[in-house]
Amino acid sequence: MDDVREIIILGAGCAGWTAAIYTARANLNPLLFTGDELGGQLALTTEVENYPGFPEGILGPELTGRFEKQARRFGTEVKIERVTGVDFSGRPLRIITRKGEYAAKSVIICTGSAPRKLDVPGETELWGKGVTACATCDGAFFREQEIAVVGGGDTAAEEATFLTRFASKVYLVHRRDRLRASDIMAKRVMDNAKIEPVWNSVVTECLGDRESGLTGLRLKNVENGEASELPVTGFFLAIGHVPNTQIFDGQVELDQGGYVVTDSRQRTNVPGVFAAGDVQDHVWQQAVTAAGTGCAAALAAEKFLDELAGEAYPGAR
Ligand code: NDP
Repeated sequence: MDDVREIIILGAGCAGWTAAIYTARANLNPLLFTGDELGGQLALTTEVENYPGFPEGILGPELTGRFEKQARRFGTEVKIERVTGVDFSGRPLRIITRKGEYAAKSVIICTGSAPRKLDVPGETELWGKGVTACATCDGAFFREQEIAVVGGGDTAAEEATFLTRFASKVYLVHRRDRLRASDIMAKRVMDNAKIEPVWNSVVTECLGDRESGLTGLRLKNVENGEASELPVTGFFLAIGHVPNTQIFDGQVELDQGGYVVTDSRQRTNVPGVFAAGDVQDHVWQQAVTAAGTGCAAALAAEKFLDELAGEAYPGAR
């Protein structure tokens, strides 16, 4: 049993790093696999204004950098390896990566979510050639150009506002006639002279080819069915996220949307397997709620390991 870890954490976003901080401080010697999305969704965001403790705001990547530093300080072992499969059918729990296989008594799934795609013609072909889902990464490529953002939530509002730093004009294409975004973010959009909302419209095609890049979008007005073209060279998707749970299908219970099902203590249906952050939360999806559930999962895992060792806390239920 020497090579069986007490705990393995999958994912390096707010939830994963928080779980690592707590389990490292509990002397559980956690091993954390970062996967490909180091820093999670927060690493793709710009200014974070609502994480408590940062009254002036903080850049997303800087915040996750601080989480990582704190987790490493208490001895978290970090491996930059993509997990390709898991086997939770027996004991110990098994984690398979491209480089090898690892065993653990408990696992916390914090693999987060990835930006949802539209699934329209031209989207995949022009990905990285004008079509993207990351304003922070790609915004600067579109200086003085006309671009479009699709979506009506906080992400769309935030990205559209951020992109006005570079673009000469930002069209905000939304399938309804009002934004879902919070009032403060929606007001910023409506007050920004560089943003032009395109209401009641959906994108039906991304135009262009890989050589010349994106040249425009084909739109359809959902009210009257009219088609039109928007001549833009950049297109940013901000239509929500899908959970990164493909490798857990058949291993833990997932809901209809593919999110990991957890109880109020972050437990999945497999004893010793917990989940935290966006991978199990399709409602709040906030940095602070991800960190909160990461903490809860870590404490629940700690309790599970104590019970496994026959040393449950006195009075624990
Ligand atoms: P949301 O799910 O909130 O919004 C997705 C938007 O995309 C909706 O307006 C939706 O339209 C639209 N949409 C979904 N699918 C399609 C489609 N196929 N075609 C066209 N439009 C589509 O996702 P977000 O990423 O914006 O936000 C996720 C969570 O993260 C939220 O809780 C949000 O508050 C939070 N967040 C907070 C931020 C902050 O506070 N700084 C920043 C960014 C996100 P419809 O409205 O019609 O459903």
